[in-house]
Amino acid sequence: ERVRALPGPTGRRLTVLSGPSGVGKSTVVAELRRAHPEVWLSVSVTTRKPRPGETHGVEYFFADDEEFDRLVASGELLEWAEFAGNRYGTPRGPVLEKLAAGVPAVLEIDLQGARQVRATMPEALLVFLAPPTWEELEKRLRGRGTEPEDVIERRLAAGRVEMAAECEFDLTLVNTSVQDVCHRLIALMADAPEASRPG
Ligand code: 5GP
Repeated sequence: ERVRALPGPTGRRLTVLSGPSGVGKSTVVAELRRAHPEVWLSVSVTTRKPRPGETHGVEYFFADDEEFDRLVASGELLEWAEFAGNRYGTPRGPVLEKLAAGVPAVLEIDLQGARQVRATMPEALLVFLAPPTWEELEKRLRGRGTEPEDVIERRLAAGRVEMAAECEFDLTLVNTSVQDVCHRLIALMADAPEASRPG
């Protein structure tokens, strides 16, 4: 684990989890959902089509272009970005509600979104999830078997850009074990003493 500057304790309530496509962010989020119901996970809106097993309102709110345009125009998104040909955005209202209620909130978003959150909510903790190696990332992305080759290539290209931006994040967690990553995230959000020790 590589730690840079951590924001003060009050900043730990909003955590942004980012990192290249295929690194295992959604597996980490699924494990958080299962094992840590006390943490609130933002549900993004996307124009991407659902993958097998994805449920509207759980992994994403699936929307068409027109609906997404409306959300952007009405300022209902905290941040949004285009990623590999689809648009993704975080509904603003629920995030602000949870933060006001003191509930720890996690956003699983791409690099462009993380930068927007950094700009608008500088107290947020930005966590970069890194693959053990680049080869491992490529293997995982292909192994998923849900995307055609051209989409995989676009995601790998985006991944190279994301990997180069690691230094913009407050800390990096290497995804060697989903349980370990979840444990570290929970510790960071709980502001446990172990969380601020470079590991
Ligand atoms: P996927 O299509 O694999 O579910 O997600 C593609 C990328 O979009 C991932 O890097 C994921 O973190 C990112 N993403 C998901 N939701 C959002 C969002 O609300 N905003 C932004 N900026 N990125 C998102």
